[in-house]
Amino acid sequence: MSNARADNGDTALLEALRLRIRRDGPMAVDELMRTCLAHPQHGYWQRAGSIGTGGDFITAPEISQVFGELIGLWCAVVWQSMGQPAPLRLIELGPGRGTLMRDALRAGRAVPDFLDAIDVHLIEVSGPLRETQRQTLRGDDVTWHGSLSEVPEGPAIVIANEFLDALPIRQLVFLDGAWRERVVEVDGQGALRLAAGPMVECAGEAPAEPSAQGAILELRAGEDEIIDQLARRKAPHVALFIDYGPAEPAHGDTLQAVRRHAYVDPLSAPGSADLTAHVQFAHLARKARAVGLAAHGPMTQAEFLGRLGIVERAARLMAANPKQASAIEAGVQRLASPTGMGGLFKVLALCSSGLPRPPPFV
Ligand code: SAH
Repeated sequence: MSNARADNGDTALLEALRLRIRRDGPMAVDELMRTCLAHPQHGYWQRAGSIGTGGDFITAPEISQVFGELIGLWCAVVWQSMGQPAPLRLIELGPGRGTLMRDALRAGRAVPDFLDAIDVHLIEVSGPLRETQRQTLRGDDVTWHGSLSEVPEGPAIVIANEFLDALPIRQLVFLDGAWRERVVEVDGQGALRLAAGPMVECAGEAPAEPSAQGAILELRAGEDEIIDQLARRKAPHVALFIDYGPAEPAHGDTLQAVRRHAYVDPLSAPGSADLTAHVQFAHLARKARAVGLAAHGPMTQAEFLGRLGIVERAARLMAANPKQASAIEAGVQRLASPTGMGGLFKVLALCSSGLPRPPPFV
């Protein structure tokens, strides 16, 4: 395996992981990911300032206000197409710094009655990020929850940018004709390394064609849970997922760690880097359809934003702020360029049955 031996930074979490693995045995990749992200003292989400130019990674709403504004207008138009229900639960999964929601609410003012109809629900596990969201959304009526299932019933629009990629994945590795759990163990020097663990059944998930020695298959139980929670909501709802990953079926190792805007070894200095994996959109759409949701897309972010009028909106913003024109243009270019984020990121909409196809998935 390529990164079998990691160059570990000696973090407090590394010590906790060593103790646990020595006590309980090798740890599956999903458990490693969960611990690195969500450990109550040393997990990555306990850190403040992870998102943004001065942090570890940057996201679309932090690059340009136009992103959140277009999503806010999209929400308002979808609300109209649902028959303007009131109240409407406007739910965001993993709101980061709260920037997308702030920009969406500002743009939503343009649509009569929309803001009066909504109540905002944020699903966030990170204490420091909840605090940042509270500051960003000062003055707005917002409720926080630990999970989507805690949001009261009723018509809903759910938005999620770079949320699904953060959900822990399992990895299976194909060796000598069988799939095995990929696990993390401790080597003689106390460093973490990947290894092949017990054999597992993965009927239905494995690719149809025979797999090569060492092939990796990723399983996303967290995603299944989100889809089940959506399907359990009885009232009409529409969900929009924006994330990186392929539109077509694909397999392989996509676990990645990012620190200070650079890729690092996922096993190095655990707890100090953002750990994510690519979203498999074809698979996600298939899982949604299997529980009775309609799936529209995936479409590239470039196409999605283009069809929602990003160029026109940016032009108006530039005309109103000539001093910032070049910065506005650069931000929009970064989001919508088909060879950059615009092509890497995909957008998928999931609707409960009986709702019209949302724009711009026509
Ligand atoms: N949507 C934001 C942030 C993306 S980072 C943006 O575009 O800037 C991922 C976000 O999801 C963070 O806010 C993180 O704390 C949150 N998160 C990750 N896993 C979560 C989970 N299981 N439940 C709720 N929030 C989660």
